[in-house]
Amino acid sequence: MLKLYNTLTRKKEEFIPIDKDNKIVKIYTCGPTVYYYAHIGNLRAYLFMDNLRRVLKYNGYSLKHVMNITDVGHLVSDADEGEDKMLKAAKRENKTPFEIANYYLNTFMEDIDKLNIDKPEIIARATEHIDIMEQYVKKIIENGYAYETENTIYFDTSKLDKYGVLSNRNIDEQKKGARVEFDNGKKNISDFALWIKAPENHLMKWDSFFGKAYPGWHLECSAMSYKYLGEVFDIHTGGMDHIPVHHENEIAQSKGFSGNIPAKYWLHVDFLQVNGGKMAKSLNNLYTLEDLSKRGYEPLVYRMFNFSSSYKMPINFTFEAMDAAKVSLKRLRDGYLAHEACDDDIDDSIIKEYETRFLEAINDNLNMPVALSVVWDVIKSQKKSKKLAELLLKFDEVLGFNLKDYKEDKNIPKEVIDLMNKRKEARENKDYEVSDKLRDEILSLGYIVKDTKEGQEVKKV
Ligand code: AMP
Ligand code: ZN
Repeated sequence: MLKLYNTLTRKKEEFIPIDKDNKIVKIYTCGPTVYYYAHIGNLRAYLFMDNLRRVLKYNGYSLKHVMNITDVGHLVSDADEGEDKMLKAAKRENKTPFEIANYYLNTFMEDIDKLNIDKPEIIARATEHIDIMEQYVKKIIENGYAYETENTIYFDTSKLDKYGVLSNRNIDEQKKGARVEFDNGKKNISDFALWIKAPENHLMKWDSFFGKAYPGWHLECSAMSYKYLGEVFDIHTGGMDHIPVHHENEIAQSKGFSGNIPAKYWLHVDFLQVNGGKMAKSLNNLYTLEDLSKRGYEPLVYRMFNFSSSYKMPINFTFEAMDAAKVSLKRLRDGYLAHEACDDDIDDSIIKEYETRFLEAINDNLNMPVALSVVWDVIKSQKKSKKLAELLLKFDEVLGFNLKDYKEDKNIPKEVIDLMNKRKEARENKDYEVSDKLRDEILSLGYIVKDTKEGQEVKKV
């Protein structure tokens, strides 16, 4: 039984999809705003998305999953204040907002591929869905959930039976803590912009029932999820920072549009931290995948690093932890190759037990640290067997390290791998005489073996 923590009910719940007979799961993920390189904090959010997809598939579900790309830009803060991120980037780089969006969308997709992230079936750009957003706003207005000021159409949160179901806040409390000045004409502090009249020199704008205008940033997710997944779908994911405003506003819009909370399960990934604080563009403490590569960490090491904590917990970024992840990745690959090269007899009941433990871990709200402990038990098994290599490949459907390709990529002859495995065993038993003999044998096959902190490394002479 798959259990997921649902922010909406504040409980770990059994996951039952709406279309349980056909085992189809409909998911929506809030995607990136493509105005700069993704930092590794952002990428944690998409590694979580990948983890969820893989666990659902492992459980036999087929997916219809939508992720948006925010290329319209939105006002700097969730609360509709400040400068438009896309426009700011366009000015900074002396490009059009469309050029900015295309460039950073490309770099984002490259990062996604490098991390071997399983991509959603539908990737939807906001600028290609302005018409559906306009229809969506019109219906909200028709249903009586919006009002108009001189320049903006606002969502009227006082029309809802409750605003703040996800974060369990109430509007009165929010008013007390409010520092933000009301925009002229805005009625309630939690009201937010749906549709905004574009000033004369605004670069991104569209003809609409409200003149030349552009959408408020919460709108795209409601309109696009509705278009592709319908009024109510199974799972909505995003970062923790989306809970208090963006996702509350998506829920508000959907209630104004169809009367429904759009998703049954709301899943949120916690933050990657640096020294206990947030990693963010605005704090100037961010790393990209490329920064990590320059320091000698391939992207999959970052994938491994993320498995050291549950997605529901913050994770602290340090280079020591990255070193440990590097060692783990090597251990996994070597362990796989060691099993792949041997044929010891393994009882099926043992394999079954590993499988059960692995499934229980991933189905416990994607508990990857526990799932990995099962992987290490398989690797450590005294008996080496192709059957266990097969099992690791099966687990790799969830882990996503492309173990199968690793074997093919290395192109090291099987005899060399066999000898390396024997040598590893000899070294573990402190039998250095045998270990040296094996090294000479490997050398005679044209390969040189070196002992490093991370284990044996082999190269062609
Ligand atoms: P943005 O492109 O700014 O809209 O952010 C894209 C995603 O990254 C969102 O889901 C955020 O919640 C997430 N995010 C931003 N910073 C971090 C961080 N330090 N750790 C984890 N996720 C983050
Ligand atoms: Zn969203």
